[in-house]
Amino acid sequence: MNFNQLSFTLMLSVLLVVSYRNYARGYPSHEVPRQEKKHAPPPFEVDSAYFYIQKQVHFGPRVPNTHAHRLCAVYLQEKLTQLGGQVQVQAFEAKAFNGETLHLKNIIACFNPSHKRRILLTAHWDTRPFADKDTSNKDLPIDGANDGASGVGVLLEIARVISYSHPPEVGVDIIFFDGEDYGEPQDGSLPISNNIFWCLGAQYWSKNKHEKNYTAAYGILLDMVGAANATFYREQQSMYYAPQIVKKVWDTAHQLGYGQYFIYQDTKEYILDDHLFVNKEAHIPMINIIDHDPSSDGFFPPYHHTHEDNLQLIDKKTLGAVGETLLHVIYQECVSP
Ligand SMILES: [Zn+2]
Repeated sequence: MNFNQLSFTLMLSVLLVVSYRNYARGYPSHEVPRQEKKHAPPPFEVDSAYFYIQKQVHFGPRVPNTHAHRLCAVYLQEKLTQLGGQVQVQAFEAKAFNGETLHLKNIIACFNPSHKRRILLTAHWDTRPFADKDTSNKDLPIDGANDGASGVGVLLEIARVISYSHPPEVGVDIIFFDGEDYGEPQDGSLPISNNIFWCLGAQYWSKNKHEKNYTAAYGILLDMVGAANATFYREQQSMYYAPQIVKKVWDTAHQLGYGQYFIYQDTKEYILDDHLFVNKEAHIPMINIIDHDPSSDGFFPPYHHTHEDNLQLIDKKTLGAVGETLLHVIYQECVSP
């Protein structure tokens, strides 16, 4: 091979490689490829999410009308303000199943307020006042590291990322609902009351939004998102009201390699949770990401509403799977594609 033959062969190889790469990417060589990096989210720090969970648990059970509940409300309000949110606290009273008057607070924070297109992210911050599914100490309140604190911890970390890194091209509202878990004991000692004593904060907010005519493109509720080996099935009411959002979130999780957590299978029945009221009464399509055990009568893994729901249950890998998936969903949103 002489020099001319060699340069010709080299040129041909380069052309072939370039054409093949363009062919493989699915666009002709004259088009400018889409810049995927533009909407890449900043990293989700699991240590930070875990710290926020620990902080809540250390106040003690956040049972309405207790000192720990009051202290934690102040902490959440101050933390969201410090993270750059426009914070409002919606204080209200609600009757509990036992006739007690509960003093409750929905804590609401708005990020990127100038954006018209908004996403609503929620979790409940109160904890169950008793351990009705435990075999001992049933009358004592639970730590609620997973049932309550985990969703709040993940959302606080998302608030931190949005504030301290480049903001997404969408507005984000975070609501920590109160009084989700004050429903009557589920040990058969009381008659079922049509579920009206659950989700008190979401019920109140759906009828009394913090801004008149407030709406969001869609909502995502996090509940019990921190246990090791959690499994999130496609919850039935979420599939009814917002199947396209379920698909978006589950597909994103699978693309990121979190298929072991996000299962492409529907729950057999709907799960009563805050999203139900947001869908039905606030008319915002909202999905629920919730740890579900299809083999259990009560829908949930054995730790549910027992004293096992403590910090030892929390696994940073699960927090990371949920947090990273949510950040990707948020940063994929863009006003001008
Ligand atoms: Zn609960």
